[in-house]
Amino acid sequence: MKAAVAHEFKQDLKIEDVEIPSIGVNDVLVNIKASGVCHTDIHACHGDWPVKPKMPLIPGHEGVGEITEVGMNVGHLKKGDRVGIPFLYTACGYCDYCLEGKETLCPDCRYTGYHEDGGYADYCRADARYVVKIPDDIDYIEAAPLFCAGVTSYKALKVSKTKPGDWVSVVGVGGLGHLAVQYAVAMGLNVIAVDTGADKKDLSLQLGASHFIDFKSGPPERQIKSLLGTGVHAAVCTAVSKAGFESAYASVRRGGTLVLVGLPPEDMPVPIFDTVINGITLVGSIVGTRRDLEECLNFAAAGKIKTNIEVRKLEEINTIFDELEKGQVTGRIVMDLS
Ligand code: NAD
Ligand code: ZN
Ligand code: ZN
Repeated sequence: MKAAVAHEFKQDLKIEDVEIPSIGVNDVLVNIKASGVCHTDIHACHGDWPVKPKMPLIPGHEGVGEITEVGMNVGHLKKGDRVGIPFLYTACGYCDYCLEGKETLCPDCRYTGYHEDGGYADYCRADARYVVKIPDDIDYIEAAPLFCAGVTSYKALKVSKTKPGDWVSVVGVGGLGHLAVQYAVAMGLNVIAVDTGADKKDLSLQLGASHFIDFKSGPPERQIKSLLGTGVHAAVCTAVSKAGFESAYASVRRGGTLVLVGLPPEDMPVPIFDTVINGITLVGSIVGTRRDLEECLNFAAAGKIKTNIEVRKLEEINTIFDELEKGQVTGRIVMDLS
């Protein structure tokens, strides 16, 4: 099968002919039809984070397609089913977190396109217990970005503890952020989008943001405070930038919440005094559970969420990474593998 393979950190991926993976008793084999490109895939291929991925690696955790083989113990899925393989490849199923339906916090979880080969290939093996079915009304290209960008932004808003009518800022209107804007609007929140450039401004306003702030035109927190007279109830930061996080922190009102989603390989110093005095909540949010994913897919099936997609080919992956790193992608790139 054809796959894009990373062999060393910070080197170009190579398009290669590799063996179709064999499956175990709890697995399914998925013939990948479409694969979204998440900024996390670049962090993986660069070895940006303290926990390193396997090498060589087939990246990708927004791979969707059709099941072509089913392991002996799998009863709830069959050949021909349409599924997506999310970032959470597997979890133990027995720890406190798994039992509480918080499987993304399982200490023994493994990630797709990180610890296990992912969706930048014609076929991908998946743990049948952690794949999620795609509703009939969503085609493969539309479904792919929901398996990470969609569920992650949806979950980030859930943990922001906001309610309809509240103000939320979405800092970073990329693959995740432009979906966060839409989920926020669908949840009845008022949205301030923060990013840079005319394309992201137009997209944000078209998707229902009330305001767009260009972070290159001065500190966004100052502009937010002059717009609202105070800060936002919650900021969801998806920016791959420490400066973006610092500004998001500074833009939250007393009693508000900063949801940390983006994963720049830097640290953000947290001001203790301001956090205490202002009663600020900081929440880290990692992808979403299978239940979150089902909910997030249902929003899209109901026509409330539409990813701004540019369809490309697997062979273009190195150029795609380059464009994503430069912030030139408006929405999500999905590679057509059908
Ligand atoms: P993306 O490249 O599509 O979007 C990032 C956006 O941030 C770009 O539009 C860029 O212009 C913008 N940006 C950069 N600096 C900024 C600043 N100072 N202020 C505002 N915006 C700024 O990336 P993506 O695929 O949306 O992923 C974003 C980040 O989220 C990555 O670090 C990725 O690894 C991480 N991520 C986290 C999770 C999770 O579960 N927490 C899941 C998926 C991705
Ligand atoms: Zn992702
Ligand atoms: Zn567990």
